Amino acid sequence: MTADTARWIRNFVDGRYVDPEETGGENRSFEKTDPATGLVNARVHEAGEALVDRAVTAARGALGPWARTPVRERTAVLRRAADLIEERFEEFVAAEIADTGKPVTQARELDVARALANFRTFADVVAAAGQESFLTDLAGGRQALNYAVRKPLGVVAVIVPWNLPLLLLTWKVAPALACGNAVVVKPSEETPGTATLLAEVLRDAGLPAGAYNVVHGFGGGSAGAHLTAHPGIDGVTFTGSSATGSHVMRTVAPRVRPVSFELGGKNAALVFGDADLDETLDGLTRSVFANTGQVCLCTERVYVHRSVFADVADGLAERARSLRLGRPLDGATTTGPLISQAHRDKVRGYFALAEEAGAKVLTGGGVPALGAELDGGSWIEPTLWTGLTNADRPVREEIFGPVAALIPFDTEDEAIALANDTDYGLAASVWTTDLRRGHRVAQAMDVGMAWVNTWFLRDLRSPFGGMGLSGIGREGGASSLHFYTEPTNVCVSL
Ligand code: NAD
Repeated sequence: MTADTARWIRNFVDGRYVDPEETGGENRSFEKTDPATGLVNARVHEAGEALVDRAVTAARGALGPWARTPVRERTAVLRRAADLIEERFEEFVAAEIADTGKPVTQARELDVARALANFRTFADVVAAAGQESFLTDLAGGRQALNYAVRKPLGVVAVIVPWNLPLLLLTWKVAPALACGNAVVVKPSEETPGTATLLAEVLRDAGLPAGAYNVVHGFGGGSAGAHLTAHPGIDGVTFTGSSATGSHVMRTVAPRVRPVSFELGGKNAALVFGDADLDETLDGLTRSVFANTGQVCLCTERVYVHRSVFADVADGLAERARSLRLGRPLDGATTTGPLISQAHRDKVRGYFALAEEAGAKVLTGGGVPALGAELDGGSWIEPTLWTGLTNADRPVREEIFGPVAALIPFDTEDEAIALANDTDYGLAASVWTTDLRRGHRVAQAMDVGMAWVNTWFLRDLRSPFGGMGLSGIGREGGASSLHFYTEPTNVCVSL
């Protein structure tokens, strides 16, 4: 597709698409490139300050009526939205692939499937939510009844990244809407498609106009910055890099708005000498290479007990070499491209740094040749290093690609110290057949999520988030309800 024939992706404000011509002087657009081929596959209408203002105003208008809609009706809209995504499943899969170039099996089994689950789970969670109440004994035999009424936070700015765009968006939008908020969504400039399709689904599910708006564009100087600086928003839920999170925090600080931040990670796996080798290698292969390493939870540091270091290194390298890079629509493809050439340049920069630091490349380290159709895409080889230490930049900084450093350890205490020696605190996985050790080490990890003998397994009702540079707050289950609502405590003297 050439830039001239590429489809248009428009903003969605107050219940309808906004045509570019309607925005007069602000009428700017940008190209969206297919990461698998490097060809332009869409042209995206960029929201300027005035359109962002219209979106926030529409959300403010929708807020009161939607917040007053009974919970059973709000949750019914979410369930219908899930049913409609199911009906239009393959359209969502196609939009996700056009945005990211990821393999069709992953788009089906993870991204779109999880979007459905997010709507259904948060409908259940909100429908079942209770209230806190306390009966307080007072002097003279009297009592006071305290109960907290939870009200929607208000107009929520939802800013999301490109790696799991629909999954991460619905993870925020579903609970926000279920709790009675109105949202203005700013998808990543790299992945505008699925958020836009979701607007139709929510409209058709019966969500009132203005409760879900989509503004497209970049971060600084564009839709992202206009949205977070807007005085009409009541809170920001953000998933993205730690640097952007820090920037967003400064933007909302003068108005003291709450933020929920799901940020970067530099996650460790700890492999003990008693680990089940096959199960561990399967798990590590997923945790290092899933979504081409572009998951905040992906493992980039693998600490391995010296007694099994050679076996783990050989086995993981062999599995890495068996991953199949290729056309997204080929059902046998396991591994897609990176999101963009710019991101590939960043990842390759770390390849160069690792080499300078004396890394031994077990496998990968370059750009694959996949044939004419794909050679314009942003492909990269799954890569593993040994010979680095925690002092080296590729082991300290988030790379966000299909790459990990393997580092040996001798004792459990040393492994824990190495894993916790990071500014991030998102996730860790522990691989051992010793149950006591599994619990002990998992609990010692300074992270939001620790797994034992698995990775990425999630109950959507459990808390999700990170500490340190990895974020502020938790979402998921009751944690989402806490962020997307504000309590008013009522105290009655009885
Ligand atoms: P990014 O921070 O560059 O962008 C994220 C979003 O913020 C995009 O929509 C972008 O347009 C917007 N943005 C950028 N600058 C902005 C500004 N000044 N004001 C307002 N909005 C702005 O991140 P990315 O490259 O899209 O995503 C990759 C990062 O996301 C990685 O660091 C990854 O670890 C992190 N991530 C974290 C989680 C998690 O749950 N912790 C999940 C997925 C991704």
